Amino acid sequence: MTNSHPLWKESKPPDTAWKTPRGLSRSERAAEQDNAAGGREAREILLPEGRKVHASIALRVLRQSRRIYAYLRWSVNGKTHERYVGEVTRDTREANLAEAWYTVRRENLLDMNTSDDTVNRAVNSESWATTPASRTIMRANKRRDTRPEKALRSAVHALGLRYRVDTRPIKDVRRTADLVFPKQKIAVFLDGCFWHGCDEHYRPAKGTTATFWNNKIADNRRRDLDTDRRLQQAGWEVIRVWEHDDPIHAAERVAHRVNQLRSSAHDHTSDSPHDSKGDN
Ligand SMILES: [Zn+2]
Repeated sequence: MTNSHPLWKESKPPDTAWKTPRGLSRSERAAEQDNAAGGREAREILLPEGRKVHASIALRVLRQSRRIYAYLRWSVNGKTHERYVGEVTRDTREANLAEAWYTVRRENLLDMNTSDDTVNRAVNSESWATTPASRTIMRANKRRDTRPEKALRSAVHALGLRYRVDTRPIKDVRRTADLVFPKQKIAVFLDGCFWHGCDEHYRPAKGTTATFWNNKIADNRRRDLDTDRRLQQAGWEVIRVWEHDDPIHAAERVAHRVNQLRSSAHDHTSDSPHDSKGDN
């Protein structure tokens, strides 16, 4: 995400850009977070024992750096937990909260079962109650493998196909596909239902940050179409899989196309294992 230029670059951020307004009731504070997140369900954390709690964003200013940092906070049994989200650079508290929730969604920070080893270890031990600096550092700017991504990969892998993971099909086009079959020129994208605006599961946001959220989703959809067009122009085939699709069926769809292109190819393109690699 490109940050807009902070107005306060030369001085302290104004209180209105980050401080919690005085005198807000508990329910008003919750409403403020719901609004920024695009809905209360967007704030749900599923705890290891199956319980759900709602997280909030806390904004803090580091005086030395004059920057505003966002943290995800939630409480379990009276204990507060935190996860670092990132810097925010908007002019109002409302916009900064929305910006932080954007990052939370993009990086799946509410998901306690991601492949991030540090997070898993933390969830499975008492250290979950703390906020180890190492976890913050490890997750900073690192793209997470979501459960749907892992499920799709292992289903495709189970069908005997080998592929590249998280790479650009075309070097000079800055778009990363989830699975890439360089020889058949097939790029597979797994699209999150919220993030890519699936018709079945994406509900446009309401409230005063609705425009913010709906613009983000609209941007993503435009970008998806643009990605497809660029790849197709370069002779690639794009397969899009929804997060809600059955990973086995999706894997079969991918395998079908890969095998079709393989068998229609001539002998000189017969498989050589060295130029494709699988994960796991
Ligand atoms: Zn969906």
